[in-house]
Amino acid sequence: MQPIKASTYSVYFNDQGYEFVNRLLEQENYTGLFVISDTNTSTSCLPSFLAQVATTLPIEIIEIEAGEINKNIGTCTEVWHALTELGADRKSLIINVGGGVVTDLGGFVAATFKRGVDFINVPTSLLAMVDASVGGKTGVDLGTLKNQVGLVSNPKGVLIDPVFLQTLPQAEMRSGLAEMLKHGIIADKAYWNAFSDLSNLTTEDLGGLIYYSVTIKNDVVLEDPMENGLRKTLNFGHTLGHAIESHLLDSATPVLHGEAVAAGMVLESYVAMEKQLLPVEEYAEIKSRLRALFGTLNFTPDDVDTIIALLAHDKKTESGTPLFTLPERIGKATINHKAENSLIIKAFRDYQK
Ligand code: NAD
Repeated sequence: MQPIKASTYSVYFNDQGYEFVNRLLEQENYTGLFVISDTNTSTSCLPSFLAQVATTLPIEIIEIEAGEINKNIGTCTEVWHALTELGADRKSLIINVGGGVVTDLGGFVAATFKRGVDFINVPTSLLAMVDASVGGKTGVDLGTLKNQVGLVSNPKGVLIDPVFLQTLPQAEMRSGLAEMLKHGIIADKAYWNAFSDLSNLTTEDLGGLIYYSVTIKNDVVLEDPMENGLRKTLNFGHTLGHAIESHLLDSATPVLHGEAVAAGMVLESYVAMEKQLLPVEEYAEIKSRLRALFGTLNFTPDDVDTIIALLAHDKKTESGTPLFTLPERIGKATINHKAENSLIIKAFRDYQK
């Protein structure tokens, strides 16, 4: 697999990733190597990662608590202190080994520590591999506001090794799968079709699918780095998905990001069908495939009202009107569509059927 060239760096796969890390360590005269991981990836991924790193530098490990709830400025402060106490300087290298929480937070810490030190991302969850690996977004949450504080800063490189997925919980796998299906719906019908039967999927097949998802996202980001147009297609399923995720966050039944996005994709596809953008049979195909993989969430009329109210806080809302990315067929999406509340309510009714 050829490395995928992102804006200023590359995404390397499998052995080439370890070769890249070791080459960089040899060439760059770093004064120290600091690895950030979380309480899960420290045990499930770090040993095999470190076994392939060849350096004479001492390696310091900084572990954060796992989970989105810890993706905040308090955790950053702890990591900045740890780096200081361990003697990190401007010529240190940070390697983030973990899911999107570790790569977002670790990237932000690296970009701000002593006004910026080099970092490498080693995403270990499916979501972080297919979504957080390109685009350069780093940052943390502020209270319940996701990714409210952060900046765009590119790593020196990204290493993707699907072997890490062997320890990833099933629900987290499905969460990443939702983003891959999204890539198919917005950009490539053949890729969508590759998910029609997942029963005999080998690690090698999965590696190929991850490679293709990263390629799709990277092509979109390269064409529209400032998110003026095409990059907004990546938001498909996320306008309603984010509102559903936020609404259920404090409930007895919180859902993972990908599960909420899967529901959001079905709902927004219904909106697309009703607006006569998406053919009826393609809507049925999207709904049945997503339902088979993700099931159906239950929403009361009160839930739906609250979710619609939450749309006002969406980053894509302009002058109080939420804007949607909608598919016009499987393989192509268009941006900046409006939808009446009554249509969204109808979409929820159809979703539950
Ligand atoms: P996460 O980092 O919380 O990982 C999910 C869970 O899986 C955690 O408990 C983690 O410890 C565990 N885990 C990760 N890899 C593992 C492995 N190989 N084996 C066992 N356990 C493992 O969450 P996530 O789903 O990876 O990422 C979500 C985060 O990513 C969100 O904060 C989101 O905002 C961010 N994100 C960023 C971008 C971006 O462009 N920067 C894109 C998408 C998502």
